Amino acid sequence: MATSDGPGATPAFDTSQPTIARVYDALLGGKDNFAVDREGAATYLKYVPDAGRCAIDNRAALVRGVQYLVRDAGVDQFLDIGSGLPTQKNTHQAAQEINPNAKVVYVDVDPIVLAHGRALLATNDNTTVVTADLRQPQEILDHPDVKRQLDFSRPIALMVVGIHMHFHDDEKPDEWVRTLMDQLVPGSYLFITDFVDTGEPLQKAMEQAGLESLGNGWIRTPERIEQHFLGMPLVPPGLDFLERWNPSAPDDEVPDVDELQPYQKILMAGIAKKV
Ligand code: SAM
Repeated sequence: MATSDGPGATPAFDTSQPTIARVYDALLGGKDNFAVDREGAATYLKYVPDAGRCAIDNRAALVRGVQYLVRDAGVDQFLDIGSGLPTQKNTHQAAQEINPNAKVVYVDVDPIVLAHGRALLATNDNTTVVTADLRQPQEILDHPDVKRQLDFSRPIALMVVGIHMHFHDDEKPDEWVRTLMDQLVPGSYLFITDFVDTGEPLQKAMEQAGLESLGNGWIRTPERIEQHFLGMPLVPPGLDFLERWNPSAPDDEVPDVDELQPYQKILMAGIAKKV
């Protein structure tokens, strides 16, 4: 594995404030978090008792999406932004169990991701972890480890999974993603999950939990989430609640929306193709 600041460097962690990556890790039952992060996770659980299941379901959708992209779409390069801690089955494992040569670059703003990625991926030359910020997309594109690992003359899957909710629309997150997508060739993909607002009280509770614990975590209407895909066509089944979304088997029997538990209506997923 390659890392962006060389082997042996130990980033300092601020344990006075919760971070998104560490709170999410705590919700997933991971151990790479501090007391302040567990307090943040407790706030989520206070508002949404099944918040941990939402996180697990999001990871499961991530795996389904990655495996669709490798198996069905033939993608073998992934730029996974806001990748989080490798608590559960991760993008590189999902991709490389189908194609061992698939290349994965993880990008996260939280230095703890790099610290843990270094240890866990030490023997995997096809996987790289970079500390960088989605809000500075050109810096991601110019990063030497990104350029070394990915071939921008061939299709790449850009993953922005479980991260839009942490940015308010006023920050224009779609423009950062557009800068990245503009550099990818036709045949590339954009994979997104986001918190949704279809009027369910528990969706609003999830937003409240995020605002109280992290200061962010906004919900959006499905119409607004569709705009994240920058006008590119979505692959079947389009944008849907995680429980109903399976791009490898979109015609399989899916539960009616009315059959979903309230916690299963908190996130939606979709994959678009650049044509
Ligand atoms: N993508 C993973 C998933 O869906 O399971 C992790 C999602 S986690 C909820 C969001 C991640 O985005 C965290 O690891 C956090 O550190 C990262 N993140 C937040 N702001 C970011 C930024 N500006 N640039 C890059 N990563 C960021």
